[in-house]
Amino acid sequence: MAQATTQTSAETIAQFDRYVVPNYRRYPVCLVRGEGSWVWDAEGRRLLDFFPGWGCNLLGHCPPRVVEAVRDQVGQLIHVPNTWYIEAQGAFAQALSERSFGGQCFFCNSGAEANEAAIKMAKAFGHASGRYKVVSMENGFHGRTYAALSATAQPKYHAGFEPLVPGFSYVPFNHLEALASALDDQTAAVIVEPIQGEGGINLPAPGYLEGVRRLCDERGVLLILDEVQTGLGRTGEWFAYQHHGIEPDILTCAKALAAGVAAGVAIATPEVAAALKPGMHASTFGGNPIACRAGLAAIETIEADGLLARGRAVGERFRSHFERWRAEMPGLVRDIRIRGVMIGLELSVDASAVVVDCMDRGLLINATHGTVIRLLPALNVADEQIDEGCATLADALRRVAPQA
Ligand SMILES: *Cc1c(COP(=O)(O)O)cnc(C)c1O
Repeated sequence: MAQATTQTSAETIAQFDRYVVPNYRRYPVCLVRGEGSWVWDAEGRRLLDFFPGWGCNLLGHCPPRVVEAVRDQVGQLIHVPNTWYIEAQGAFAQALSERSFGGQCFFCNSGAEANEAAIKMAKAFGHASGRYKVVSMENGFHGRTYAALSATAQPKYHAGFEPLVPGFSYVPFNHLEALASALDDQTAAVIVEPIQGEGGINLPAPGYLEGVRRLCDERGVLLILDEVQTGLGRTGEWFAYQHHGIEPDILTCAKALAAGVAAGVAIATPEVAAALKPGMHASTFGGNPIACRAGLAAIETIEADGLLARGRAVGERFRSHFERWRAEMPGLVRDIRIRGVMIGLELSVDASAVVVDCMDRGLLINATHGTVIRLLPALNVADEQIDEGCATLADALRRVAPQA
């Protein structure tokens, strides 16, 4: 039952070719409507979505409480600036603080912006003691604006944009000795994803994040955790660091923060937050009432529906499918990396053909870092949907599996 649209996918594509900057590789399909893990294109075709909203739609498409909250809010106030107090922003800040480490929230609209805010906070905090450098991890991803890009240690994203912001250096992920030797008395912060997302769903080695925290403490360096992709329940805890018994000084979150409505946040300990004085940083749309109402409704949904536990169960159901494929196609399946609904399947071959084949069969997935199938399904994806999508994915994998 697709909603009537005014033009075909082909017509929309022609319009893009003429009027939209061609900086994205897009699939030749225009999506028009979604419900949970289902999504429909302009031709009325239904697709099963294991990558809803590029990880932003953690509750699937159009979760009812979020739809209701946004509808209610747009009739009251669409936007007011941060020169006023905004009730929903205060409530959302309290909700996030209470579910993390008691920090204070700076709201913005995207992951890159959240990381910019975190880096500026860390520099402002370290300024008096001459600390301005930032260390980040190879294969990490922190966004496309200049400081976030400079922290993203992947040459392919730097090409064409040099020189980058000075003061950034890089060490391998999961390598504590390299980090220890990169820190000096001018280092303001270490920024790291607790699970590298875009870099291929790379899980932290046992003790790694605990070791990063210890090094930061010993050397007087702030720890920024980039939870833009892992945050707000993706891994089966509110935040991925909560699997490790440590706390950051600053945490950033965006993608799923407001269930698909644009929102970002940098949460800092009150001590670090105090470094940002009035006038030092701002975001016009940050913490707007629509995004904050959506975020509050997302938290309410996750709690009312028990979705953190459900996310852990979903991950294990995918794992059991993947383990069967590893036994069936040992030459193809290199590694299985899963925490909650953050799911990676590393292949021995390039994964992009699998993505296209799945789309032809009505299943939306993603590939990253060449050989890694990445799934960021909704927390509330149904068991039958998991099994149906995995059957489709298995067929696509059999076509590319090297013959033994
Ligand atoms: C997506 C992502 C970003 C960038 O977020 P944008 O909203 O695209 O700016 C930053 N960090 C991580 C870990 C991400 O996954």
